[in-house]
Amino acid sequence: MTAAIIDGKAFAEALRARLAEKAASFEAATGRKAGLAVVLVGEDPASQVYVRSKGKQTVACGMASFEHKLPADASEAELLAVVAALNADPAVDGILVQLPLPGHMDEAKVISTIDPDKDVDGFHVINVGRLSTGMPGFVPCTPLGCIMLLKDRLGSLSGLDAVVIGRSNIVGKPMAQLLLAESCTVTVAHSRTRNLEEVVRRADIVVAAVGRPEMVKGSWIKPGATVIDVGINRVPAAEEGKTRLVGDVDFASAAEVAGAITPVPGGVGPMTIAVLLRNALVAAHRNAGVALDEAAI
Ligand code: NAD
Repeated sequence: MTAAIIDGKAFAEALRARLAEKAASFEAATGRKAGLAVVLVGEDPASQVYVRSKGKQTVACGMASFEHKLPADASEAELLAVVAALNADPAVDGILVQLPLPGHMDEAKVISTIDPDKDVDGFHVINVGRLSTGMPGFVPCTPLGCIMLLKDRLGSLSGLDAVVIGRSNIVGKPMAQLLLAESCTVTVAHSRTRNLEEVVRRADIVVAAVGRPEMVKGSWIKPGATVIDVGINRVPAAEEGKTRLVGDVDFASAAEVAGAITPVPGGVGPMTIAVLLRNALVAAHRNAGVALDEAAI
């Protein structure tokens, strides 16, 4: 069997087009644009690229983008003051503090100072609690993007066996919560899991969020399963001195067995920023008391 390719790039484009429409109607209703603020501390090149891309896509969707850059040696108190100002700013609906922060800053403390109703990354403990208790809040962008792709592909996920490989706070754990909320039978595998191959082989849905290039082989996959590869790993390319991106799943062998699979790049990756914009627009509607059918976007 050759798996269907789940095209996250196309899905993200369509999502952004829906968001642009809703952003325009929000502006017409309120007289202001929905606003997303991104705070970047230091000069990490990957973070700079990511923040630039977020800013561009925010503006392209018809929303206001606010960027705050602090030097790598800024104090934690300076960062907390920026977050406090953004919490109080009515033009700002969503706040994202780009991680990782420099070592002298306490990430958990910084995130805990973001207004939970502007926490569009969904990392604040209040939003973690809301997700695990089924209350409306904000869900981390990458796992929410994965669920959107899965529901688009499979319709109802109810009763399916799902295995999430990885238990990080930003991907694995919220992914497991979301699958549980869709009535899947969920197994969370991690670095101490015994017989990982056997665990994966039981699953109708496999979500790999490990950070190990091409670790999950086609021979581990149940025939017809849906495979969501969250991993982004840079490895040496065939051409001397060049690199290429691969996922946590060995795409070539897995695509021979799976029913559907996300490629890397072009699968989960493009969803993350699109979902961030979605969360910011949802925040704007909630904060301004403007109705929005959140399930429809
Ligand atoms: P992490 O390092 O925080 O967590 C990795 C998890 O994998 C851990 O829970 C660990 O227990 C588990 N693990 C490690 N080795 C294992 C093994 N041999 N067997 C089973 N489990 C093992 O990573 P993360 O932040 O969750 O990211 C995971 C991957 O997803 C990375 O490649 C990252 O780049 C990628 N990622 C992609 C996006 C995106 O937008 N597509 C977003 C976030 C993360």
